[in-house]
Amino acid sequence: MNFALNDEQKMMIALVRRFIQEELSPLEDKLEADGKLDDEVARSIHHKAKQLGLYALNMPTALGGGGLSNLDRILCEEQFGRTSDYLIRRAFGNVYEPLLHCKGEQIERWLQPSVAGTRTCSIAITEPGAGSDAAGIKTQAKLNADGNWVLNGSKHFISDGLWSDFYLVSAKTNEKSISMFMVDKSLAGLTVGKDQAMMGLRGTPHVELFFDNMVLEPLCLLGEQGQGFKLAMGALNVVRLAQVGARAVGKASHVCELMLDYASERKHFGQAIADFQMVQHQLADSVIEINAARWMVYHAAWLLDQGQDAREQIAMVKVYAAEMLGRVTDRAVQVFGGMGFCKELAIERYYRDARIYRIFDGTSEIHRSVIAKSAIKKGAVLFDVER
Ligand SMILES: Cc1cc2nc3c(=O)[nH]c(=O)nc-3n(C[C@H](O)[C@H](O)[C@H](O)COP(=O)(O)OP(=O)(O)OC[C@H]3O[C@@H](n4cnc5c(N)ncnc54)[C@H](O)[C@@H]3O)c2cc1C
Repeated sequence: MNFALNDEQKMMIALVRRFIQEELSPLEDKLEADGKLDDEVARSIHHKAKQLGLYALNMPTALGGGGLSNLDRILCEEQFGRTSDYLIRRAFGNVYEPLLHCKGEQIERWLQPSVAGTRTCSIAITEPGAGSDAAGIKTQAKLNADGNWVLNGSKHFISDGLWSDFYLVSAKTNEKSISMFMVDKSLAGLTVGKDQAMMGLRGTPHVELFFDNMVLEPLCLLGEQGQGFKLAMGALNVVRLAQVGARAVGKASHVCELMLDYASERKHFGQAIADFQMVQHQLADSVIEINAARWMVYHAAWLLDQGQDAREQIAMVKVYAAEMLGRVTDRAVQVFGGMGFCKELAIERYYRDARIYRIFDGTSEIHRSVIAKSAIKKGAVLFDVER
């Protein structure tokens, strides 16, 4: 067992961290204040990140991506957590793994441009009537006499939906099965609805989508009919580990560093507040929990790299890392006192941005239920190394 990072990994982490510090962090306050950035600025950070080879790190090199292992990708995603969601999307891309199931002409039309960053994609599964129960969707795709699919229904909360050029949409293709479709924004029958204002993640639009008798050619179907949903849900496991687990660790680490600095500088009763035991408890608990979450994330990534099924470990990461981030940001507000609540500092923003981690990509309750069901079925296998 070797827990050490190699020199290449350390260099990669340093490169990503420096890029975030120099190019992205300076944009955060304006993004927060205005809720958007000029498209030109967005294009510029995309271009700079791409030149450094930092775009689509999770995609294979044969397609022009970074070709990173799951563990190396996680190390980068942890750094991504140090900046805002919108800036991560523009600089580093958000190329969803399910697109790797594209075949033939689909590769040229959807996968390759996504990896190159000339087209962007959102994933559209959630509906007003179906969130946690992702199989309970109402959106339907029916084959017509010409062999095309006709799509009807709606989605909501679709991240980055204004920016995206196409959507990966789940739809029922018969009573029992669900398929995934690649749906171009430019096609007739699609309406992008309102940008649903959120508590945090300023800058990233979250939109409604309405499909009204949209005609989709057969090529738009991802995977086999009735199988695409399974493919997509499987591939989204790694997205959960990266975009929730690893980013939560990165964000919490960043917040904890700020908390440690502030506690050391802020003086009361003739001493730094870091000298008070009750403040120290908050610092210590944050450091303990960040480290625990980090090793859970790395272990799950390592399991994936060994070709193992890490579903349960990723469910555990999803719950623990998301809730850890909530506790760390809450402590940060407390340690910063009034300044933690005041918009002059970013602490209140980190606190707001942390809240969604327990909800998206499967709520804590849903993942706890997955873990409990597996534990009941498999027993000690989930925690006893000798089993
Ligand atoms: C900012 C943001 C970005 C998002 N981005 C996307 C996106 O890009 N694409 C996309 O498709 N979706 C996206 N979503 C949707 C997100 O994945 C859902 O909000 C999430 O899955 C929860 O679904 P829901 O909101 O319908 O809540 P519900 O499913 O209605 O849940 C409400 C409550 O009931 C609990 N609950 C439900 N079922 C059970 C159960 N079996 N046991 C115990 N408790 C249960 C939940 O845990 C929760 O506490 C986004 C949401 C937000 C807020």
